[in-house]
This record gives sequence, C-alpha cells and structure tokens, in this order.
Amino acid sequence: NYRHISDFNGVLEGGKKEYKMDDYRVVISQYNPKTIRIVIYAKERIPITFDFNDKKLKISKQSSTVLKTPKKETTQKDLPKKQEIKPVKAQNSQDKKPKQDKKDPLYVLDVDKISNAVILNLSDTLSDDEISVFSSKDQKFFRQIVSFKGILEGNRKNFTFGKNNITVTQYNPKTVRIVLSSPKEFDISKNLEDKSLTLGFQKDNKKTSKNDDKKNKNNNNKNVLSSNFKSKKIIVIDAGHGGKDSGALGNKQGTLKEKNIVLSTALKLGSELKKRGYRVLYTRSTDQFINLRDRTKFANDKRADLFISVHANAAPNAKKAKSAEGVETFFLSPARSERSKKAAEKENQGDFEEINYFSKQSILNFLNREKIVASNKLAIDVQKNILTQTRKKYKIVDGGVREAPFWVLVGAQMPAILIEIGYITHPSEGQRIASKTFQDILAKGIADGVDSYFYHNR
Ligand SMILES: [Zn+2]
Repeated sequence: NYRHISDFNGVLEGGKKEYKMDDYRVVISQYNPKTIRIVIYAKERIPITFDFNDKKLKISKQSSTVLKTPKKETTQKDLPKKQEIKPVKAQNSQDKKPKQDKKDPLYVLDVDKISNAVILNLSDTLSDDEISVFSSKDQKFFRQIVSFKGILEGNRKNFTFGKNNITVTQYNPKTVRIVLSSPKEFDISKNLEDKSLTLGFQKDNKKTSKNDDKKNKNNNNKNVLSSNFKSKKIIVIDAGHGGKDSGALGNKQGTLKEKNIVLSTALKLGSELKKRGYRVLYTRSTDQFINLRDRTKFANDKRADLFISVHANAAPNAKKAKSAEGVETFFLSPARSERSKKAAEKENQGDFEEINYFSKQSILNFLNREKIVASNKLAIDVQKNILTQTRKKYKIVDGGVREAPFWVLVGAQMPAILIEIGYITHPSEGQRIASKTFQDILAKGIADGVDSYFYHNR
C-alpha cells in the first residue's frame, strides 16, 4: 500500500472529506487543531502533482502523457512549491507568503447584546481604519452598515431593540458585516476597545448633548461589564492524581509526590480565585483517587466556565533530571455543539487511520474552533502571567504553551487547560514547587491569567 501524506497549517471547514478516483483515494482531514492533512492512498507508488494556482490547490495524479513532456519532468514530486513553473509568478508568490503568515484571520468569537448595542468579541485587536461604515436607506428603514475583514463564528446573529435591529453576518468569505437598522434616522455609536467592538444606536437627542451621551453610555457599559464579568464565572480546579495514584515522584524515597504538590497548589489557587470574586469548585480537595473521565464530567455537570488541571512534570529518565525544568501550559478544547457533532459524525464515518492524534471522541471535538481558540487564549494568558509573577523572584524556564492529548482534558465542554507547574524530578525546581511560598506565587500568576482571560473575553 502506498501513501502520500502532506500537511499544512490550516483549518478544514466542515469535517473530513474523501474522494475516490479510479486507482487512488484522497482523504482530507483535520489532523490536529492547526494542521490539515492530505493522504493519498494507492495500491502502488503513483506520481502526485500539487498545482498551486492563486487560492487553489489542485491535487492530481500525473498522467503518463504529462510525464513525457520535458517541461514537467523537471518538476520535483516531493517539493510541490517548485511546480510553480511560471517565473513571473514565482516572484509574486514569494512576496505573498510572509504576508499570509503574518496575519491570522480575525474571528468574531461571539456577540453579546447589551442595552442599546452589541459587543463583538474578537480574536484579535482591530483598528478603526480597518472598519468601514456606510449608510443606506429605503422606504422603511435607515441603515448603517459596518464591515471589516474577519470570520464570524457560528450562524448569522440577529438582535432586536424595540423597533431597531442589528444583524451580524458573514457577508462574504472574508468580510463580516453588521447592519444596524431603524425606522428612524439615527447615529451609530462605535467603540473599539482592545479585542472588542461595540456597535449600537445613539439616542437621537439634541446634537449638543450627543457627545456627553455617548461618553455616559460607554462608561455605563464598562462599569456593568467590569463588575459583572467575574461574579458568575465558575472555575473547576483539578488537582492531578490522588489516592493510590501518586503521580510523578521527585526521588526514589518518594518523599516528593506530585499528588501532594498539586493538591496544595490547587487549593491555594482556589482561595486566590475566590478572593477575586470567582466561584471555585474542586474535583478533589483531599488525597483521593478520581478517574480522569469523572474530572471533566464534574466540570460539565457543574456547567463550569473554565477547567484548570494542575500537574507537575517529570523527566523521562534519571539522566535528564538535572536538565529538564520549566513551566508549561497545555490546551485541548472539545466541542459539544449538536451541529458540529452531527457534522463530524457524518463526516467521520469510515476509516480513522490517518487521524491518530486523539480518540474518536476528541476528533469530534476538533470541529469547534471557537473552543480551541478559547482554550488556546486561556493557556497563553495563564502561562504569561505565571512567568510574570514567578520571575519577580525566581529564574523560571518557559516551557511555552502547547497542545497535547491529555485525556483529562478530553470531554470538557468548556475552555480547558492543564498546567505543568514544574519538574518534580529537577533538583532545585522539585523543591521549589513543593514550597508553600512558591505555590502562593504560582496561584497568583494563574489567577492573573484567569483574570486577563475573562477581561479580554467578556
Ligand atoms: Zn500529573
């Protein structure tokens, strides 16, 4: 059996696709949250061509006639880019590439309705000059039409405010359009703040008071948001291991046990978060064994907003114990929306052989990009703030934010991360993560990360 496998960074819309040809089969799938994989199956080795043309990638079997023409023979099968033969284009494509790498598409993650406006939560910042606004009018309605380059998560959204109306749609594959309409003539209120865009109707008061009005309204919104954004949030803190499962051991004597270190860190994190106004629940608050599956099930049952699992890492062997150190934050974010689940179930019938990243269940989860983005953001905020806090006093190695198949995260219906607070096997780091002083600092850092996440993703 011959297989030709190609990967590139990307997100596949709508689940796995499979195409059967006469003597080969092409399967396109989301291999991991960031990678699209194309697998070509055939009985024996076949020459595959990748033709890049503008925004299209054409995958085909080189026909034998093509092989005979000298021009095409110079192309290299394994390096698809070189098959762009036209010299003029080559220059262009080189120019284009870094641009595409630089800017990820901007996502509208969700849209909240407030008293007289909607707040679009964005995956990144947006500047005023990237937004276009124009007005139009027909017999019934006055409209203000706002557009920017971006991708709207989920379906078109519609909000009514008495006789006024706001719709948010994917106008074309690249453009999000927000239409505000009202039977009366109105001015639009537009407020860009960090990663959110607020659009609404200005009250049609006298022109003179307009500015004051706008200010007041924005201030009000801000106050409501900043005082409320934490209070209802439920955070499940999951101390890894417990009971018969000690987790990693720091030494042969077994005096340093992961289960104990992570439990006391988790409890400190919980009280820090409570102090800051969150509701906190623990999967375990004592030395108790809990199945992995029950941990996220608990979080799901409690309808938690975040799931944070706390672990300590261990070097793979004694040789590496002295060199392996640092803090790492992992994410894996699952989806439970009925729509994506159904789409996935349908698309995933058949073989799974080219998808070995996680279980079948978690593959279904890949399809909710919004949750992946959210977990990724949470992981970034937490990792960053752990480093900021701990580095005030200690030299800490940044292990970075990573994606990994931790079973404990599979099944969580909310943004979920797993923090490896340090290496228990490292001579000094092992001692450090066991100390209450350091755990206090860690708890502050993680809580700062949670604050930052909620603040930016209200
Ligand atoms: Zn662990």
